[in-house]
Amino acid sequence: MTDVVPSLDSPHARLTVLSGPTAVGKGTIMAEMRRRAPDVWISVSATTRAPRPGELDGVHYYFLTPERFDELIRAGQMLEWALVHGSNRYGTPREPVERELAAGRPVFLELDLQGARQVREAMPDARFVFLAPPSWEELVRRLVGRGTETPEERERRLSTAREELAAVDEFDHVVVNDDVERATDELLTLMGVTERVD
Ligand code: 5GP
Repeated sequence: MTDVVPSLDSPHARLTVLSGPTAVGKGTIMAEMRRRAPDVWISVSATTRAPRPGELDGVHYYFLTPERFDELIRAGQMLEWALVHGSNRYGTPREPVERELAAGRPVFLELDLQGARQVREAMPDARFVFLAPPSWEELVRRLVGRGTETPEERERRLSTAREELAAVDEFDHVVVNDDVERATDELLTLMGVTERVD
């Protein structure tokens, strides 16, 4: 028998990557997951985009200059990185992910499609989950309702969203975000994570 079945002991089997189009509700699902399963370690990404009102450095993202972002890539300190929506770069600092996996914790990354593909190359045993909207119309409604993007930025994001939705078959699982609580239940079950009941 060839050794193609991922071992359950593989550290990468504890790694979950979530992707999904703009405004599908990834942030809300992650907040719910953080509340219900605080033992899951959620990676903080680096980005060259400016903080939105209320976003904190080191909490929501590490907000970096393009120069600093380049330095980290050159030093091999990005597990993956991508230019997202054609405007800003986002990446996952490598060291904390490796540290948490080695410590035996479930690790969670929220990445765009390009980032998910890079992690799949590097860590094929990880679990890849796509968060889908109930419908295209609902996705547009959520993006417009959020009101944080200019009309041009919105168009750019919708164009990326079309490409991302077309790649759904590349993922191991699809979770439809029709209801935050239900979708989070499904995600935690896929991850094999038990909720902490306080
Ligand atoms: P936003 O600007 O709305 O916070 O994020 C835009 C997109 O960047 C999100 O859809 C998210 O999937 C993606 N993203 C966030 N962090 C990372 C990362 O570390 N790597 C990659 N490849 N994409 C990311």
